[in-house]
Amino acid sequence: MRVVVIGAGLAGLTAAADLAAAGVETVVLEARERVGGRTHGVEVAPGAWADAGAAYLGDRHTELHKTMAGLGLSATPTAMYGGSRFALGSGEKTRAGRFPPLNAVALGEMFDLLYDLTATVRPDAPWETPDAAALDSTTAAEWAAENLRHPDARLFFPLFLGEMMAADPASVSVLHMALYLRAGGGIRYLNAFEGGAQQDRVLGGAHQIAERLAEQLGDRVRLHRPVRAIHQDGGRVSVQAANGERHHGDAVIVAVPPLLAQSIDYRPGLPAPRATAATGRGCAVKVQIVYREPYWHEHGLSGWSVSATGPLLSTVDDSPPDGEAGVLTGFVTGAEAYRFAALDPATREAEALHQVAELFPQLPPPVAVHVTDWVNEPYSKGCYAAVFGPGDWLRLGPHLSTPHGRVHWAGTETSTEFFGLMEGAIRSGHRVAAEVLSSYETPGRNR
Ligand SMILES: Cc1cc2nc3c(=O)[nH]c(=O)nc-3n(C[C@H](O)[C@H](O)[C@H](O)COP(=O)(O)OP(=O)(O)OC[C@H]3O[C@@H](n4cnc5c(N)ncnc54)[C@H](O)[C@@H]3O)c2cc1C
Repeated sequence: MRVVVIGAGLAGLTAAADLAAAGVETVVLEARERVGGRTHGVEVAPGAWADAGAAYLGDRHTELHKTMAGLGLSATPTAMYGGSRFALGSGEKTRAGRFPPLNAVALGEMFDLLYDLTATVRPDAPWETPDAAALDSTTAAEWAAENLRHPDARLFFPLFLGEMMAADPASVSVLHMALYLRAGGGIRYLNAFEGGAQQDRVLGGAHQIAERLAEQLGDRVRLHRPVRAIHQDGGRVSVQAANGERHHGDAVIVAVPPLLAQSIDYRPGLPAPRATAATGRGCAVKVQIVYREPYWHEHGLSGWSVSATGPLLSTVDDSPPDGEAGVLTGFVTGAEAYRFAALDPATREAEALHQVAELFPQLPPPVAVHVTDWVNEPYSKGCYAAVFGPGDWLRLGPHLSTPHGRVHWAGTETSTEFFGLMEGAIRSGHRVAAEVLSSYETPGRNR
């Protein structure tokens, strides 16, 4: 049996590794000049890396931990000690802990409403949630306008959604918001550092996971091969890359985000779309501001900040643990990411530095700034993950992981467990490899 895998992100590489381990002949076609997809590292000091893409993980990310252990990678805690800085209007600017200086009752009520909402979602089949049609036809912004009365809750809600899922409330359906929060382990887990989904990072950077998987797969992984067409004819599948190269197989695994999967030419055509006009390409820009050391600790600060206005709606200490550099990572998300991503590089950097100087006036000038613009990445189109707009879950959901003949699907968006996260991507890779192995005759496998 021969299987062509499209996409060398965590999902595609996990699937390819499982198939290769089972003795299946496999080739992985990757559009970019690198592996890793939405995991990506920037070198912030010689030999020291920070995550320009996915970074955080928690104890419940069991498949990710298993993969890391198998590749000789370990986790390091996210540094979160010291006070936080806030720029949320007229309230306190510095506070112990992460709770913002806003009306605690109003925020508590907002979280209660969100808990109730997420509890109703059917995580395995969101489209079968009671009231799914109503929840899927309403945007999170409309939900907030109707349910959040206090101005502090209205102020904080888009910041919370931006931090959790890099989504603009106006473009995401309530059903998608609820599924994302539920699938990730619930609001408390997703939002927490210690004990939660942001407890740890990968020591040396998350990009190493894909790099090491690809190293093990060797010349099965082919870069610079954007796939344009997948044609099925009888019992064979033919995959055509942009350079004209054709690869034949008994089955194909498409492990790319839904908007990109949708742009491939399928023959026969797909019975249902994988993305619609409402599916958002995502809105996240990461800004890494590099210092010689994490100077904010000297001032009793953790590096954590939350601002009501951009570009950096939150910052976090992402310094490598061995003291090679101090790194403040700023998150530009939601509608602000579209504005910021449209600026020229010099203006982006100037805006980010101006804001950091206001939030942390004690810091000396940085030694470097790295801006990673996921909004305009042609081969991601969904950051942190695909942003499902009104109507998407009902229309797309039932088909996301259903094979189309010999075409099988993977990617974090096909996983209703930890949807949108590295854990979801890896789980989807194992799921699709098992699906392929059980679907086809195995005696002819090449070793
Ligand atoms: C800024 C940011 C922060 C994030 N933070 C976190 C976090 O803290 N924790 C967490 O768990 N997750 C986080 N995520 C999400 C996480 O990165 C993704 O869920 C995960 O990496 C998705 O893996 P994947 O394999 O499904 O898709 P991808 O990583 O997108 O892989 C798909 C691959 O397919 C390739 N491709 C696309 N089209 C084609 C084509 N036509 N032909 C061939 N190849 C193609 C792409 O180049 C890519 O390599 C974050 C993401 C971003 C962008």
